[in-house]
Amino acid sequence: MSREVTAAGWQGEGQTSQTGNEPGQAAEQKVILPGSTIGVLGGGQLGRMMALAGSAMGYRFVTLDPTADGPCGQVAEGIVAAYDDREAARELAARSDVITYEFENVDAEVAAMLMKESYVPQGSELLYTTQHRLREKRAIEAAGVRVAPYREIRSSVELLEGVRQFGLPCVLKTATGGYDGKGQWVVRAESEVEEAYATLARSGAELVLEQFIRFERELSVIAARSPHGEVKAFPVSENIHVENILHLSIVPARVDEQVQREAEALAIRIAEGLGVVGLIAVELFQTADGELFVNELAPRPHNSGHYTMEACRTSQFEQHVRAVCNLPLGDPSLMTPVVMVNVLGQHVEPVIRRMAAADEAAARLGAEPKLHLYGKKDAVHKRKMGHVNVLASSVEAALDWIEETGIWTEEITNWKV
Ligand code: AMP
Repeated sequence: MSREVTAAGWQGEGQTSQTGNEPGQAAEQKVILPGSTIGVLGGGQLGRMMALAGSAMGYRFVTLDPTADGPCGQVAEGIVAAYDDREAARELAARSDVITYEFENVDAEVAAMLMKESYVPQGSELLYTTQHRLREKRAIEAAGVRVAPYREIRSSVELLEGVRQFGLPCVLKTATGGYDGKGQWVVRAESEVEEAYATLARSGAELVLEQFIRFERELSVIAARSPHGEVKAFPVSENIHVENILHLSIVPARVDEQVQREAEALAIRIAEGLGVVGLIAVELFQTADGELFVNELAPRPHNSGHYTMEACRTSQFEQHVRAVCNLPLGDPSLMTPVVMVNVLGQHVEPVIRRMAAADEAAARLGAEPKLHLYGKKDAVHKRKMGHVNVLASSVEAALDWIEETGIWTEEITNWKV
């Protein structure tokens, strides 16, 4: 059942269009009301937390994912099929009033088909842009925001030229398909050029070389924009990665107020410049003198925004649902200092044991750890299984709790050296 309201008024069942994309009904005016069904392409933890937040608001969810009983499938109706299965995508379209996605590598033809057969307020252009590092960097620059100096690389000769242009070290990346540091090579000597090029070129992807930014901190900002153009940014998060996997998000970030404001402003500039609908996560490098460079974008909820679940008046998942449905955006203000710590496969058992026992350290530090688990069965080493949002009177108290548990000792040793 579909409930929509437009500027012209209510459209009850039977009057709503099958596609939602009919002429004369501008997306800016179309509102998807609670009671409607949201289709989610992808059934991982981001879809799960989206469905949990959206269900509380009165929406129904149906997800398309190749695995049965996955994180999202456990809390929503599920269609089990490959992401590029046209028939399954058509079924998702038929069962949904609006469609969104929880990952950016959506097959282009499936995206086009869904746009034709259903209502996809986020469109396919943003996916097209963010699926490719070169296109993404050009779009960020066109929005008036800085990225690390870069150039396209089509041969080992060009790579050598680039290395000489940017100086050592520099970072060679595949333009498509990389995540969590995969598809990257930090070139530290000219003697590595041939091997670096041959290794990454083997994937068949285009390559991009970036100047190495000697950043002091990695930050991120998540902004939301709705079809009618309302934009709001969440507070800046300071992110600590261990072996290229996010370990901690610290909020408020330990940076000047001015840097925080600038980071939020540039995320809003990107959301507006790229015509984003839904969420856009902006990952940033901050240098010692306070300069900000965008590293990359993700057009979806982001791991570095999980802290919002208990620490902000509106979570990133609720905000995404609000934006995609064209409801007024919620207040993203921070209510308490927080540190989010990821629970990987190796942390699951000790975390569960910890949560079941009286926690003296938490009581002493005034910390309130909130555990979220994603319902994944195999606790494989380094696999993201959940996270803990540690609410406390200061980020230092939250960090002390994380250290005192002894659960993340290996990560702490790796980033504190
Ligand atoms: P990415 O997949 O682009 O997010 O890169 C993964 C990680 O590699 C980042 O979180 C940084 O820690 C590091 N990195 C990537 N690009 C650069 C760069 N141009 N300069 C310095 N560090 C980088």
